[in-house]
Amino acid sequence: MKMWEKNIRRVVPYVPGDQPSGDRLIKLNTNENPYPPAPGVEKALREMDYDRLRKYPDPAARALTGSLAEYYGVGTDQVFVGVGSDDVLAMAFLTFFNSSKPVLFPDVTYSFYKVWAELFGIPYETPALDDDFRICGADYYRENGGVIFPNPNAPTGLLLGLDQVEDIVWHNQDVVVIVDEAYIDFGGDSALPLLERYENLLVVQTFSKARSMAGMRIGFAIGNPSLIRALNDVKYSYNSYTMNMPSLVLGAESVKDERYFRNTVAKIVDTRERAKSRLRRLGFSFPDSMSNFIFARHETAPASELFEALKERQIYVRYFAQPRLENYLRITIGTDEEMEELYHFLEDYLKR
Ligand code: PMP
Repeated sequence: MKMWEKNIRRVVPYVPGDQPSGDRLIKLNTNENPYPPAPGVEKALREMDYDRLRKYPDPAARALTGSLAEYYGVGTDQVFVGVGSDDVLAMAFLTFFNSSKPVLFPDVTYSFYKVWAELFGIPYETPALDDDFRICGADYYRENGGVIFPNPNAPTGLLLGLDQVEDIVWHNQDVVVIVDEAYIDFGGDSALPLLERYENLLVVQTFSKARSMAGMRIGFAIGNPSLIRALNDVKYSYNSYTMNMPSLVLGAESVKDERYFRNTVAKIVDTRERAKSRLRRLGFSFPDSMSNFIFARHETAPASELFEALKERQIYVRYFAQPRLENYLRITIGTDEEMEELYHFLEDYLKR
């Protein structure tokens, strides 16, 4: 090994789902929304002032933090935005998990948590989900350097009730607790109302799922002003201009159209509930998802083989070759038409 190579930081990166290209494929592998963003977003994109690209964007991202503050009924000093919730979560790890005690998150969860902990040298422990893939609140009662979990959890789709979330926050008032609500709009109660009682709570959400804007990369955190100030201090020590101008304009535009947002979410929830009965009839079982995906295993067909067969037919789902997960497929809820094609393929395949 050359001398200079010894100084290179070696990391095992997070592996995002495939982004295959092609017209005819059915993409159910990265929990994107199958419907377009709100019509106002398209209009604003077409009318965007091209000359504004010459200038730096507002480093405080006020157009977006302002509209989110208004929408959620919080102060503008309670909102932080970033380049997708991945950026917000990475900043939050760096800002709040600065203890020699381990940060706690579930063993089966969003796999990026472990990557950030490793990258930033944060000690961590991963309490196991129970046999039904549920988070056990009591695992989080011990001393720790911070807590983070998604609600609903990924890739299981299982939701904790607000009382269970509060129980975990209540037991951890000496550290920052982050609730990652990437999928909360598909059927859960947000922890946002708890902010009034817990100044150590940070709620993180995204525009990538329910708002159909994964390509724009917008995420945000809401918490008490001192947490948001600390996040901003870290952000300004790293990159002042994380949010580009189009993201600020188009994100704010999306927040204006509540009706479109509700309708789109309702369509996906309907399709998900139908998917549950169709998949069950085909011999699949799964935790009862409250997100925009279903984490399913088949009674006889091995998931790895199903995954390959689906891919051959240009239907992409997500497969995790990991202990406990290797017999499951994570299937994003697409349009009704896309889901019909999936069921038809599965019917034929499983008959063989
Ligand atoms: N949290 C969870 C639980 C997720 O599944 C995802 C999506 N990969 C994210 C956060 C990050 O999403 P984004 O960066 O697109 O906001």
